[in-house]
Amino acid sequence: MIQFYKILKEYVRPYKKYVSWAIILNILSAILNIFSFSMLIPILRILFKMSDKVYEYIAFSPDMSWKEYGNTIMNNIYWWINQTSDSIGGSWTLFILCMFLGIMTLFKTLSYFASSAVMVPIRTGVVQDIRRKLYRKILDLPIGFFSQERKGDIIARITGDVSEIESSIMSTLDMLIKNPILIIIYFLTMLIISWQLTIFTILIVPALGWIMGVIGRKLRRQSTEAQELWSDSMSLVEETLGGLRVIKAFTAEKDINKRYNQITEDLKNKVAKVSIRQASAHPVSEFLGTVLIMIVLWFGGTLILSDSSSIDAATFMFYMVILYSIINPLKDFAKATYNIPKGMASVERVDKILKAENTIREKKNAIAITEFKDSIQMQDITFSYSKHKTILKKLDFSIKKGHSVAIVGESGAGKSTLVDLIPRFYDVNSGVISIDGVDIRDLKINDLRKMIGYVNQEPILFNDTIYNNIAFGVENAKAEDVIAAAKIANAHDFIMEKEGGYQCNIGDRGTKLSGGQRQRISIARAILKNPPILILDEATASLDTESERLVQEALIRLMSNRTTIAIAHRLSTIKNSDEILVMSDGKIVERGKHDELIALKGYYKRLNDMQSL
Ligand code: ADP
Repeated sequence: MIQFYKILKEYVRPYKKYVSWAIILNILSAILNIFSFSMLIPILRILFKMSDKVYEYIAFSPDMSWKEYGNTIMNNIYWWINQTSDSIGGSWTLFILCMFLGIMTLFKTLSYFASSAVMVPIRTGVVQDIRRKLYRKILDLPIGFFSQERKGDIIARITGDVSEIESSIMSTLDMLIKNPILIIIYFLTMLIISWQLTIFTILIVPALGWIMGVIGRKLRRQSTEAQELWSDSMSLVEETLGGLRVIKAFTAEKDINKRYNQITEDLKNKVAKVSIRQASAHPVSEFLGTVLIMIVLWFGGTLILSDSSSIDAATFMFYMVILYSIINPLKDFAKATYNIPKGMASVERVDKILKAENTIREKKNAIAITEFKDSIQMQDITFSYSKHKTILKKLDFSIKKGHSVAIVGESGAGKSTLVDLIPRFYDVNSGVISIDGVDIRDLKINDLRKMIGYVNQEPILFNDTIYNNIAFGVENAKAEDVIAAAKIANAHDFIMEKEGGYQCNIGDRGTKLSGGQRQRISIARAILKNPPILILDEATASLDTESERLVQEALIRLMSNRTTIAIAHRLSTIKNSDEILVMSDGKIVERGKHDELIALKGYYKRLNDMQSL
């Protein structure tokens, strides 16, 4: 519960204004409710002709105590009722009292409605805030975070868990404000009417509350498990969508379907358990409420029958009505406390992302950098994704401005890892990477990344127009610049052949384009960004010869006047590099120009021979 209020404080803070209104309106509606029901006492007295006491009008005086004030008001009301009843008859007096009851109830329901209405902006707003925060956090977190947490799981948290928070916590939020207020006000009224009866009532309530609590605790554990299963199922769906080609090619539909059926079966069973427990909340609380009324009715009734009670029968009926009124808020409150644990399980899962620490941080007094002047240096760097395996082992190398370095080596040697360190997608474990002599960890992260352009083996495009994909990340790109970039990237011609030209939508991840076309768009993007440092990750590896020629041409134009680090499979594309680094098992085993490496007759020569075959 403490944790719950902490969370409320955190998320509801921007909506304080609405909360204050909700509180005011709820107090108002509770008070109006009590007043409208208090009309019952005179009505019952008239109906049952219970009192033949004669009331005299008492004038108010300023030196009365609160109690005297109250008594005087009551006395004068009865005096007025008697007067009216004598002059216009009991029936008309009843009519007036009923009208009064009606008007009071109208105001009560109006303020009740208003109190719920002011909660709507809080409810919808908080959910929106959580969604936005999550998305923002996903953008902020380092790439490393997402290889540990599966994508499907994260999608599940944004969809399932946020909806769960909405339905179980936010929708009960008004219950959490409304009910305590109603409970307190009704309770005070009960105390004022008869503290003896109220103390008796209080003695019974905790026992009933305890029974409800036991059910609630179990619910929380089960719903955590249910949410985890939902995540698993989302992960599998996301994996399936990504790997559909492989699944079909290996005719693994049956196996994967079996896996999915198993997860959904478990999910179904768990959700069924949670639902049944949840469904038990209403009947259990209803029954317990009636038990409470039963006991108090018996106890109070006995007191009145034995004439030892401090209140008369009409007031007792009023008391019972208020007691009955307090049961609903109590029940709703209990229901809310049922729902909260269910939602808290989701809050925890969402919080795991929101509170995840960003390990790639910018220093407070980070240095701005706008120009690359001299060189990039790596000194003695070591890196590992996890404790048990070191991926890069004490690497050393440097690139002069304007030079091109190629990295070759077997798959898994650590080539991609190495280039990921330069824009700080990961930080080194030891050693230093520096640009113009400044440790990159001392630089502003955005400045650093602005200096680096990327062309990957699998170009990353978004479901948007060609134009927007080229202009991605460049603020206020001019149309002529975009077109010029596309021309340099050998992309302009095929773009013009597309329906809509630059405004053609390329589909999800660019599926409406061929591999070579996608690659040229991503090259055009890098050209437009015009970064001094370029990282090419096997940019031509997956293309056919014709596409490769077009892409290669584009790349050569892109690389001119830039400092380039290229990961390459095909040695033919890197023969002219200023330096070639041959990597094996996280170390640089050979380095030099193409001819020098061939002369070494080592690893590189073997690679070269294999490829010329
Ligand atoms: P290359 O680019 O030379 O093929 P990588 O740099 O991709 O090699 O991978 C080097 C090693 O690091 C491999 O053993 C690979 O399994 C491991 N690796 C790559 N990415 C991750 C990651 N996100 N988490 C853990 N290990 C990784």
